[in-house]
Amino acid sequence: MSKKTKKTFSIAIDGPSGAGKSTVAKALAEKLGFIHVDTGAMYRSVGLYVYRKGVLPDDREKVIPFLTEIDIDTKYENGAQRIYLNGEDVSEAIRQNEISSYASKVSAIPEVRAFLLDLQRKTAERYDVIMDGRDIGTVILPNADLKIFQHASAEARAKRRYDELIAKGQDVSLEEITEQMIKRDYDDSHRANAPCVPADDAVIIDNSDMTIEQNVDHIAALVEKRRGKQKKTPYEKAKKLLSGLFGFLYRLKIEGAENIPKQGGYMVCSNHIALFDPVMLAIAFPHQLHFMVKTEAMNSAFGKMLSSFGCFGVKRGTADKAALRTAIGFLNNGECLGVFPQGTRRPAVDPKETEPKTGIAMIAYRTGCDIVPVFIKTKKRKLRMFSKTTVVIGEPIKNEELNIESGTAHEYKNASGMVFSDICALEGDMQ
Ligand code: C5P
Repeated sequence: MSKKTKKTFSIAIDGPSGAGKSTVAKALAEKLGFIHVDTGAMYRSVGLYVYRKGVLPDDREKVIPFLTEIDIDTKYENGAQRIYLNGEDVSEAIRQNEISSYASKVSAIPEVRAFLLDLQRKTAERYDVIMDGRDIGTVILPNADLKIFQHASAEARAKRRYDELIAKGQDVSLEEITEQMIKRDYDDSHRANAPCVPADDAVIIDNSDMTIEQNVDHIAALVEKRRGKQKKTPYEKAKKLLSGLFGFLYRLKIEGAENIPKQGGYMVCSNHIALFDPVMLAIAFPHQLHFMVKTEAMNSAFGKMLSSFGCFGVKRGTADKAALRTAIGFLNNGECLGVFPQGTRRPAVDPKETEPKTGIAMIAYRTGCDIVPVFIKTKKRKLRMFSKTTVVIGEPIKNEELNIESGTAHEYKNASGMVFSDICALEGDMQ
């Protein structure tokens, strides 16, 4: 199967400094389970590098060659961005007041903008993002699903920035900050390359008199509206239909939803009691899961339904290389995989006595993904209509915790055993 391109949702928030873009984007990312991409932090990292080199940020001739020495990387922890400059975590260092004007000056250099463009676009291709900056809706993501241009009066913005810096213990005055802000606004909106102006199709928000909460709710409502208008995928349609039906027929409950990672690219490993297990998991997880299901089930009367749930066949009893490649492809593409490491349904057998298949460990090793353990809990480990079914979601097992260093059969066996015992332990976690 070829690599599938994931349909992601992107929100662009542009506006001048101090307009609360980052604060609102962070809160919104948390609320919607999106990734917050703070592009200002990327420009600040370049500014910091130039500052540390003792070079003036508007000295183009000297700044441009630095770009070959700079490696910027972002990592996301629970949706929040950490930024790395040549491997060093500079998330705090870039917030010093003197770095703001360095960032603004280097950002006017076209080569610097081109240097960061790719990184910004690639992130939006992989994840559902809220990206904030100055030219996101106009240049970086011209096809963003929702564009916001957020601003506030210069006084309101300067006061916010001042409070923020004072809280961080920096020695600044309100006059100084207001002056710097007006200068930075002017430079950002008058530069020839990617000036900070609203996109034609942007929604303009003046938040001078809004609380952060009101601001976040306002944008969340716009997202809801836009998403409602988007055509639903067969997966989303089937999920909507079946979550109502299964909720009623199998008294479906979900526990531990707070353990679900904010971003995709993880593997869900669950015990396996019934043919409908993929459906139960699909209902429980907000990200689309792709399931490895034995080919017999795919060829059964329920094959069509399973396939609309992102299931793909795996031949039992053989090392099915094509299925493995498909699974790895999904994870590497930031999507999620659902696997039943028991290999086959074992309703009546004690899962603790089952030897799990080691494929999950191999996939984890080859992709670096984390694993979310799940136990589908029912009375007497049988799926019965009108009897309670609970999907218990455990804390993710970090890839490093699997202790696979060189991919040996022994390591795979240990790692799979560990995952499976975490799965079984969840049975007791719920009453
Ligand atoms: O948003 P923040 O204040 O952290 O950005 C620092 C500077 O980086 C801004 O003043 C602006 O000049 C520049 N910037 C930009 N384009 C972006 C984000 C930030 O030019 N997308």
